[in-house]
Amino acid sequence: MLLIRNAQVLDPQPRGTLDVLVGAGHILAMDRDLAPGLPAEVIDAQGALLCPGFVDSLVHLSGGGGEGGFATRTPALRPEQALRAGVTTLIGALGTDDVTRSHADLLASARALSASGLTACILTGSYQVPAPTLTGDIRRDLVLIPEIIGVGEIAIADHRGSHPSVVELARIGADARVGGMLAGKRGTVLVHVGDHDDGISRLHEVCEASPIPVAQWHPTHMNRHAALLRQAAPWAARGGTVDLTASTTPTLIAAGDVPAALALRQLLHQGVSSERITLSSDAQASLPHFADDGTLLAIDTASMDSLLQVVREAIEEHGLPLSQVLQTVTSTPADVWGLRKGRIAVGMDADLVLLDPRTLHVQATVARGQVHRFDR
Ligand code: ZN
Repeated sequence: MLLIRNAQVLDPQPRGTLDVLVGAGHILAMDRDLAPGLPAEVIDAQGALLCPGFVDSLVHLSGGGGEGGFATRTPALRPEQALRAGVTTLIGALGTDDVTRSHADLLASARALSASGLTACILTGSYQVPAPTLTGDIRRDLVLIPEIIGVGEIAIADHRGSHPSVVELARIGADARVGGMLAGKRGTVLVHVGDHDDGISRLHEVCEASPIPVAQWHPTHMNRHAALLRQAAPWAARGGTVDLTASTTPTLIAAGDVPAALALRQLLHQGVSSERITLSSDAQASLPHFADDGTLLAIDTASMDSLLQVVREAIEEHGLPLSQVLQTVTSTPADVWGLRKGRIAVGMDADLVLLDPRTLHVQATVARGQVHRFDR
């Protein structure tokens, strides 16, 4: 049992100062002046912010990269990296490299993370079409493997992808939808959008040519350049959701990346609801910077810390409302992926993050009831 006293609860909407009682990995009660009734570890939050544990929509759990040869492959994520960043639910994916990286390895990485109380789900497929899978096809993967909740990252408008046709994309969307239906999952398809001017026009074509709902697709890296970001509001107006990538580098910003906090401000000001926008870290991905002629100029590794940094920047530097920013890393990604996560309520998993109200640094993360404290 764990009793968190005197916390300013954001569920992610503000609920005032409450005590929250946790037991057997779940939230048992939320009220003022709770008495646990049984022996419990007590944390006095002293007015710290208690939010749902963050849901990160794109993490290369088992490592990624390799665009500059084998020496540029990136390492697997360690559980402390997630816990320190306040992330308790992760959606893992392969990336460019589906030759030396496999879904079996990705699944094993996810299961290893769950030993620390983290909830790690994965996606079948990769950048490539036809999509490589674990069991032979997308539907079987979704139906038979509990951790597989969707498909991705399917690459469009990118020189590293396989340039899928409208028919190929529609088939992937249909397989994801049917496999998801049979398994009681959303079957969301995460679409990696590259640098090419086409942006998400291929997704609009698929929506026009097929009866697959717009909400089946979740395009990511929408802040990759200003022209692509301009395509986000019309996509949201059509019923779609978009993902902004938190990790970037000064080099990539100089080359046109829109910093995620700024992109979030622009979308909210354009009237896009925070229920349609998610933020993801793309952690452990390589961040390659290519010249116009395709030459690789530089490569970095994306960090999971970027998610909290962007949340902080959005609130402190851009003055965006705390609960709206929190939605993009809690309830909205949970809804996009169809997960019972991202909210604080009695009966939900005890996935919580305690933030310093002044600096927004993580003081403690609770992952399915396991407490991890961080002194700063
Ligand atoms: Zn990507």
